[in-house]
Amino acid sequence: GTLFYFVLPAYLTFHFKVFSLKLLPLYFLINIIIIFYLFRKNSDKKYSIEYQMQVLDEKLNILNDQNIKESKNNVALQAKIIRYNSLKKIVEEINENLDLDSVAESLTSIAFSLISNNKGTCILHLVDIETQKLNIFKTKKEDNKLIIKAKEGDIFDYWVLRHNSSLLIEDIKNDFRFDLERLKLQDTRQIGSLISSPFISENRLLGILRLDNQEPNFYSQDDLRFLLTICDLAAVALENSILFQATQSLAIHDGLTSLYTKVYFLERIKEDCIRATRQKEIFSLLLLDIDFFKKYNDNFGHIAGDIVLKNLSQLITESLKEFSPIVSRFGGEEFCVILPNKDKKSAYKIGCGLREKIESEKIILRRQKTNITVSIGVATFPVDASDDESLIMKADKAMYQAKQAGRNKVIAS
Ligand code: GH3
Ligand code: MG
Ligand code: MG
Repeated sequence: GTLFYFVLPAYLTFHFKVFSLKLLPLYFLINIIIIFYLFRKNSDKKYSIEYQMQVLDEKLNILNDQNIKESKNNVALQAKIIRYNSLKKIVEEINENLDLDSVAESLTSIAFSLISNNKGTCILHLVDIETQKLNIFKTKKEDNKLIIKAKEGDIFDYWVLRHNSSLLIEDIKNDFRFDLERLKLQDTRQIGSLISSPFISENRLLGILRLDNQEPNFYSQDDLRFLLTICDLAAVALENSILFQATQSLAIHDGLTSLYTKVYFLERIKEDCIRATRQKEIFSLLLLDIDFFKKYNDNFGHIAGDIVLKNLSQLITESLKEFSPIVSRFGGEEFCVILPNKDKKSAYKIGCGLREKIESEKIILRRQKTNITVSIGVATFPVDASDDESLIMKADKAMYQAKQAGRNKVIAS
């Protein structure tokens, strides 16, 4: 513009010594055209730069998104690697010992920490061999005060039991397989999502390991797969420990009465004497023998005699429950009871109560109303004896005195 306004007229004026005003509109017009041209060119350029910047921005956004996704994938992958790396340790830990309680403890704490990050609840149910019902065996809870009411499982556990397969519920409210009204009757605690897997060994369902959380969408397919892997790996170890516990229980429990055996009792009383001495505690012993039991067998038969023994065992266990006793079958129709922390006076009183209860219990054998009576000897540690063997001897002696005194009596040594 300046060129046309100043330089050209100046040149024309000085060179040709003329300056025509007539040329001025021409300059002016040319000038406008040029300005307009430059302006257009500039704005075109500006527009194209803006456009390119937008394109770059979008590309950057896409790259950022990809980056975030990939780093998320990376984290998930790392978590997966950590999980699967720990499998070897899990298998070792579970197979470390045969004790059912330790196996259950390992299983629940591994699943709870590795899958749930110790959030929500983890429940291990075992199937009772006799009743075929589920029974809560071990739990892990984020909130220690939480009470799980459904001790024999809820609708989700029954589902796993019935289908013999694992279960993932992402959001309970949107899962129409389950009747939530029924769930409310079983347990009132909040559940948003859950995963559950059965332990199956040789086609037999041993139990169910389950994780649940108040939040919906807490668990993923990956979590369920990992839980399944744990349950598959642990099924045999769990079965072995269940069998081991059953054998152990058989060894210490009497087959007819389910009371402790004499072998167990003798071990137990030995330990109790040692512990009581060390901790300066006392305890008492009751030795019971049924009066004239031979006559029962003769009158009603040996099988009826067995039933009487079984019922009497239940009666003893029930009546003394509040004293946390150790009740054992000491011989054929003899029973031994350890009463922890009871002195002689209290033990004598407890013995008298028991004697009365047994006497008043009606038994119907062959349509005849009858009853049994027992003679009871009482001895107390450490006032009557300083070791297990002499304590048992003292109780036995007292029981013999009760027999001599006419039976159906309690005598303290
Ligand atoms: P008391 O003790 O009053 O002197 O007379 P008793 O007839 O009970 O005599 P004792 O304690 O010596 O007898 C034990 C009897 O108990 C022998 C047997 O007939 C009976 N008996 C022992 N074990 C069993 C058992 O497992 N089942 C049955 N049915 N009877 C048993
Ligand atoms: Mg006897
Ligand atoms: Mg007897």
